[in-house]
Amino acid sequence: MPIKNQKNKTIIAIDGPAGAGKTTISRLVANHLGFTYIDTGAMYRAVALKAYENGIDTDDEKGLESICKKIKITFKTTKKENRIFVNGKDWSEKIRQPFVGEITSRTSAKPRVREAMVKLQRRMGRNGKVVMEGRDIGTVVFPNARFKFYLDASPETRGKRRYLELIAKNEKALLQDIIDEIKKRDKRDLSREHSPLKMAKDAVYIDTSNMTINDVVEKMLRVIKERLKFGSLCC
Ligand code: C5P
Repeated sequence: MPIKNQKNKTIIAIDGPAGAGKTTISRLVANHLGFTYIDTGAMYRAVALKAYENGIDTDDEKGLESICKKIKITFKTTKKENRIFVNGKDWSEKIRQPFVGEITSRTSAKPRVREAMVKLQRRMGRNGKVVMEGRDIGTVVFPNARFKFYLDASPETRGKRRYLELIAKNEKALLQDIIDEIKKRDKRDLSREHSPLKMAKDAVYIDTSNMTINDVVEKMLRVIKERLKFGSLCC
């Protein structure tokens, strides 16, 4: 897939495994800088759920491709949250159901799905001033991004975070099951043939295991400001 020269556009690429804190952190960094925030995991989740609702199997690549061609995905971000709309309907909660995470790691491994989403993501980022998070943003979607970060944490830490989130929402959860699920998802994301989860060579690695969300956001903003000493966030 050819990519136009994005050199003068500011893209902040944030990659890493599930549960490393990417979503909250990316939204806060975007808010702070006045940038648009794009959650690419939510896009893959929307495609997987739409396919599921249409009775399309996770291995039916042609069926998945036709969903990608028809689906209309938009985001609305406020200071506090990021909402995703699929064909005009708010799917923000729906796509977070645990089974959607599971089917998404299967459908997102399909090259035609990736091709369609990457095209859409590049279009969304073409004007710059964007914080985009996912698994392959710094490696495939925007390899020339001006800033790249890779957020990580141990599976146990990530599992515990998700467990506490679910308990806070009064949902039933078993810590060990969640950790096992995260490990399974990591394995699929890391070992798939097309665009596996991989740190870009020029990304800044941050292990968030023993850091608060604010610590991570501050560190990222420090890195950005440090590098901008001789430039500006023009666009
Ligand atoms: O980030 P989130 O956990 O919502 O992503 C759900 C799934 O979408 C991931 O497990 C991964 O399989 C897929 N994904 C991807 N590429 C991205 C973002 C997410 O393959 N850029």
